[in-house]
Amino acid sequence: MATILVSSCLLGLPTRYDGKSMPCEEIISLIKEHTLIPVCPEQAGGLPTPRVPSERTGDKVMTKDGRDVTAEYAKGADIAEDLARMYKADLAIFKANSPSCGYGMIYDGSFTGGKCEGNGVTADRITGLGIPVFREDQIEEIKEFLNRVSS
Ligand code: SF4
Repeated sequence: MATILVSSCLLGLPTRYDGKSMPCEEIISLIKEHTLIPVCPEQAGGLPTPRVPSERTGDKVMTKDGRDVTAEYAKGADIAEDLARMYKADLAIFKANSPSCGYGMIYDGSFTGGKCEGNGVTADRITGLGIPVFREDQIEEIKEFLNRVSS
């Protein structure tokens, strides 16, 4: 059994900026054999739901209407880090493209739907702890990893 930090919205919790969720049944079904720890770094950082969408621009995170929310994103990453340490997470499964949770590719800061290489603020933090981060679209890689750590 593994302990997995998971983006709350992938588990069906309505934490997204638009007040909706993005449930992923293959991720939810992992709860049959593993411990899932939900986290929404943007809510944990004190941002409301619904909220104005944000994107990373260099070292900062800005809302679409020009507010600097870098501090809220950093606080959310702090709380995700605390959870990962407290529960000794083996891996994380995070929502693709998000300025908090995205891994490998994120929205590029232009608010046009364009993407660029990079990680969300929390994905960066968790990766820095040496904890492998996967996206929800990597279910085969996730299963392979879980087989390895469980055997
Ligand atoms: Fe989902 Fe992460 Fe965005 Fe929260 S911050 S809604 S968990 S992608």
